[in-house]
Amino acid sequence: MTAPIGILALQGDFREHAASVQALGVETRPIRTPRELEAPDLEGLIIPGGESTTIARLLLSSGLFEPLRALGERRFPIWGTCAGAILLADDARGLDRPALGLLPMTVERNAFGRQIDSFEADLPAPALGPTPYHAVFIRAPRIRAVGEGVDVLMELHGEPVAVRYGALLATTFHPELTADRRLHAYFVQECVARARATAPVPEVRAG
Ligand code: GLN
Repeated sequence: MTAPIGILALQGDFREHAASVQALGVETRPIRTPRELEAPDLEGLIIPGGESTTIARLLLSSGLFEPLRALGERRFPIWGTCAGAILLADDARGLDRPALGLLPMTVERNAFGRQIDSFEADLPAPALGPTPYHAVFIRAPRIRAVGEGVDVLMELHGEPVAVRYGALLATTFHPELTADRRLHAYFVQECVARARATAPVPEVRAG
């Protein structure tokens, strides 16, 4: 599969995500404008970690907010990591601007407290295979509740840290900072390829 995956490149660790996706042999494209987002060959989008307040502000000033929200509502595959997960939520606590509101979950920013700002943990990840996944959390949000239809893929102390809702994926940690590419492969195979396989046949326009 070589179709491009867009990486929202307004702020945060978009370069690391691009490198992880490219390591799978999949093309990526940085997305900074509505025109880039609307490219018909784009098959999915990653919203990276960074600072959710900054990314939210830049989404509005770049004109990307509405087209991105509309794409998500049309079941376009989108994966948000850390700050990106906050932006996908329909209830984002501590965010001073609107989130995209695409994924039914309550997320609280910076909710692990200052003492444990950043930490790493090996977590069971049955959807990815028998080997635990080494997850890196950096000023991570906590997913306090998930709505109906949301599948929990990974947990930390009984609380969701990776969830899927149709073609949407959200992780509160940073898969782009480790060499384990299984979550990137999961997004490409389970969200993007599946969405493509089930996409309606495009209407043929007359004239
Ligand atoms: N604390 C950041 C925020 O709330 C997220 C941290 C991250 O993406 N590593 O936006």
